[in-house]
Amino acid sequence: MAEDLESLSVPELKKILKNKNLPVSGRKSDLIKRLVDENAKDIQISIPLYSENNLWRRLVNKKWELSNGYVISAVHVFVSLMVILSTAGLGAYAVSQFNSKTPDYTLIQFDSSKAREYTQMLVDLGHPEWNGRMSGSVEEQATVDAIQQNFTEMGLMLQYETFNVPMFEIRSEPELSMCVPGEYPFSLQSPTPCGTTDINAEIITFNHLTDFVLQGYSGTREIQFWQDEFTIANLSDGSDDSLWDNASGQVGLLWLDSVGVTSNTEFYAKARDSSLAGLIIAIEKGNTCKLPSLEGTCIPFFKTVDVTELGTMPTDIAFIMVSNDVGKTLSDTFGNKDQNDVRLNLVTDVYNDGTMDVRVPCGVLPGQTDELIIIGGHHDTTYNAPGAVDDSSGVANVLELARQFSLLSNEIGPSYYTIKFCTWGGEEEGLHGSTAYVEMHSIELSEMLRLYVNFDMPHVDIDLETRGNSISFYGNGIEDLEHISNIVEVFKKEQPEISSKYDLSYFYQSDDEVACSSDHCPFVKKINKDIVGSYGGGSWEYHTYLDDMSRFNEESLFVTGTILGSYVLYLGWGE
Ligand SMILES: [Zn+2]
Repeated sequence: MAEDLESLSVPELKKILKNKNLPVSGRKSDLIKRLVDENAKDIQISIPLYSENNLWRRLVNKKWELSNGYVISAVHVFVSLMVILSTAGLGAYAVSQFNSKTPDYTLIQFDSSKAREYTQMLVDLGHPEWNGRMSGSVEEQATVDAIQQNFTEMGLMLQYETFNVPMFEIRSEPELSMCVPGEYPFSLQSPTPCGTTDINAEIITFNHLTDFVLQGYSGTREIQFWQDEFTIANLSDGSDDSLWDNASGQVGLLWLDSVGVTSNTEFYAKARDSSLAGLIIAIEKGNTCKLPSLEGTCIPFFKTVDVTELGTMPTDIAFIMVSNDVGKTLSDTFGNKDQNDVRLNLVTDVYNDGTMDVRVPCGVLPGQTDELIIIGGHHDTTYNAPGAVDDSSGVANVLELARQFSLLSNEIGPSYYTIKFCTWGGEEEGLHGSTAYVEMHSIELSEMLRLYVNFDMPHVDIDLETRGNSISFYGNGIEDLEHISNIVEVFKKEQPEISSKYDLSYFYQSDDEVACSSDHCPFVKKINKDIVGSYGGGSWEYHTYLDDMSRFNEESLFVTGTILGSYVLYLGWGE
């Protein structure tokens, strides 16, 4: 036991003695002896006071409660004195909350103005034209550098890994336009239709980001106006196989009410199997049709494909989504190409068959043990979006909790758990960073990881009135959710005004039910670990160029950051 004290500096020992109203004079060995004697007196193990449904847990964990209300485990008492020292210090931090007899929950400090700063910092690092911080890009590298710099300033240890994963690389801006060649009735020699000398040509150029965006793992294709043979073939909703057959060699146009990774994977595979030159999705319904400033228009958004499901990568098929307006213009115009000459220009310059390095930086806050809690969010965005909400807001929560826990650890001593704050690359293209990380560390994590806390869009849109006010806490551990619901009750008491503005709910998912929609997935599916997370509603701009700071609502981050952060506080310091 004295060995742990041995590792402390003289000023640290004196601080502890002072907190305990003991003399601070003497040499280091005197100080240590004084503390050891005092702590031997201090440990008066009393009957634990736990609610009925936590009884089994107490037995499993061999928890005891000290007479002053601090809860302490057998491991703590016999293996290390540190926890006693730290709980003694804890009095200074939050003495009133920790004196009650049921499991004690203290709300962690969370500075939402800091969360805004972090989000803004990340958004500012986006691509100069498209605003995204795509995995494998220089923007991702700049993002990771900024995150690491913050971890360093907080006094955390850095761990940095890169993982070589399947990743597409956009080599130049995609193009989409159409052209009706000019008529030259009195000239002997007509210019090349839609060429530079065709001054009477009518060209409609669609705008990248607002009118169309790439879909994940699009291939490279260059269709120019002079290639008269290309037309756009109607695929309707994609369910009629004969339409796919007829579209062979052409660009297929799909009309969809909703778009997800599964459907994108399925349709892109069909495009490959039917030898299409390109696949265009026109989006007809959903959140991106509701944006107030753009009535009637459904903004195109990015979705990826599941490369593990897709099989052979189609390297030469353009894959884009267009707005409903653009879809209609294309189908009206190319629908009667038989009668009227119309030309297509569709260029996608994407290398989709290789791998790239995605990054995973972690800031480490050492605990008393190597048992581990990881708090994470993804630092990448889709290539076309500033990603203020998805997922700069989540990374902001990770950073602000890192800052708070680092301060706390300095003040009251280390947590029982080592806490790692990690941000993942490659999420948007298929959870590549977190999956590779879990695979690489599966043995250590299987043994040591107590909980993974995921922050992906833990944010509610600024317009609560129109878009709703829901915040959900999810998890695959009933007990974790029980604690979180208890913390929510504390939050409601201490923050009545803020909590009344949000509809807070929980849902439990068994391991099988856990959705692989974010980075918590590999922790469940690959190593069967407990995860919790939160997300909020109202991000209609999700995966579009409009997911920017004008939608930002730091108060909602205060809610999710405080509640899940307080659960980590409880696990690390309070239990
Ligand atoms: Zn996300």
